[in-house]
Amino acid sequence: MASTAAGTTGDVTEELPQHDSVDRAEIAAALPGADEQTPLARAVADDARKRITLSGRSVPRPARTRALTVANQKGGVGKTTTTVNIAAALAQAGSPVLVIDLDPQGNASTALGIAHHAEVPSVYDVLVEGRAISEVVQTCSDIDGLMCVPATIDLAGAEIELVSLVARETRLRNALTAYIDEREAAGEPLDYVLIDCPPSLGLLTVNAFVAANEVFIPIQCEYYALEGLSQLLRNIELIRSHLNPRLHVSTILLTMYDGRTRLSSQVADEVREHFPDQTLRASVPRSVRISEAPSHGQTVMTYDANSSGALSYLEAAVELAERGAEPPVIEETA
Ligand code: ADP
Ligand code: MG
Repeated sequence: MASTAAGTTGDVTEELPQHDSVDRAEIAAALPGADEQTPLARAVADDARKRITLSGRSVPRPARTRALTVANQKGGVGKTTTTVNIAAALAQAGSPVLVIDLDPQGNASTALGIAHHAEVPSVYDVLVEGRAISEVVQTCSDIDGLMCVPATIDLAGAEIELVSLVARETRLRNALTAYIDEREAAGEPLDYVLIDCPPSLGLLTVNAFVAANEVFIPIQCEYYALEGLSQLLRNIELIRSHLNPRLHVSTILLTMYDGRTRLSSQVADEVREHFPDQTLRASVPRSVRISEAPSHGQTVMTYDANSSGALSYLEAAVELAERGAEPPVIEETA
């Protein structure tokens, strides 16, 4: 993995390329404890620990393709940021990943450096024109094994155009299933599909919920974070009982965490209390590097791999992968 100029602590990992995970754990544990230090020193030590434990690690690959819809009907909570950075981290760790940009804003496409001006074949053509994903998919030049189905401005009209089409809720699922099978048959199976949703619960989001088995909810550590969540959960339940019995909330990630504020830790505690099994131990801090990366057409994973934001997303991605592939036993509903 390329190192960047950041590294205020010196890049410890570069001296340790051969160590196995046991050695890594020992070295990480040997770093000075956090309690006798200032918050800044603690943050630096935490980052160093993550760098040693996680850098250049490969992750277990799922037995079958896992499709996750990244959803939260609130805007600006970190859906797109989470989609592209988790996708990048998983791909860097050796798992082939497809990102489907389902937000007409096309922010995920931008962040992955993928062309998505009006003439580019996109997810619109898949949903409305019935084109195959293989005809519109692009590869991300920065990261091996990372692919993206871009969103163009056309998608803004799709919400309305879809209404009159047959099988309007299952169009993405049908296209995705065909693509997953195609990759499998070619001996190049996808490990993950991450679908970036718009901040609304229209037909685009319904298509995402029907196409995926897992819902991945990023929650911003701010006041009102849980507001609207019960609505989201009710909608997921509706989709589950009518359209996709396998759908379940598998993963919750706390984003924009600010360790200096009591509010952030209160929100985090509350989320963990409500969703103990789904919430990842890793959380993502508020970080300037994360917000700068998209303007360079990059994820933070390549823009500044040693930043605390990148390390947190890497930590979250490893956890997501290690939590295993299989959905819980399905009880047939309706
Ligand atoms: P959504 O897709 O839910 O609307 P975004 O991922 O686009 O949210 O994030 C909203 C804004 O917040 C973007 O400008 C993004 O760069 C910024 N942002 C997201 N996560 C972080 C973070 N951890 N630290 C700082 N800025 C962030
Ligand atoms: Mg977004």
